[in-house]
Amino acid sequence: MKMVTIGTKENDAMLRTPCKEVTEINDDIKQLVADMHVAVKDYDGIGLAAPQVGYSLRVFIVYLKGEFVGEFINAEIIETSEETNSFREGCLSIPGVFEDVIRPERIRVQYQTLDGKRKVMSASGLLARVIQHETDHINGHVYTDRLSKEKEKQTLDRYARKQKSKRKLLRKKR
Ligand code: ZN
Repeated sequence: MKMVTIGTKENDAMLRTPCKEVTEINDDIKQLVADMHVAVKDYDGIGLAAPQVGYSLRVFIVYLKGEFVGEFINAEIIETSEETNSFREGCLSIPGVFEDVIRPERIRVQYQTLDGKRKVMSASGLLARVIQHETDHINGHVYTDRLSKEKEKQTLDRYARKQKSKRKLLRKKR
């Protein structure tokens, strides 16, 4: 699966549009999830949301330290702690840059599993962070939206510069 990265109009629109709810977990959804499992490993990610691979659907998967955590269909965060923490986040859709993001330390998330069961999960620490990052994706947000305006601009400028020098390197190789 090809990763959708910010920077082109088409990709930006995909990543900045709230995703559609999954009304039926059919074979197409199961195939998408199977492909996402391959992609997250290929790209060495800890989480991956459907809009990052070109599907505007409320689906994401989470791995933590190489261990599979779960498939989250129609996830919604129903509770967040007042206590927050800061952590250096990155994103497969904004490769090569990282920035400190403040988020609630603990959450409760309601979702469906791939076999359609409704579940609620309590999470803290890194797991809570990944679930919040991926839930942002299906709501049409990327982590840089959570930075101050100034920090957001700095981060995206840094990303644009990196993309540019990468393109230059590729041209030189030819
Ligand atoms: Zn991301």
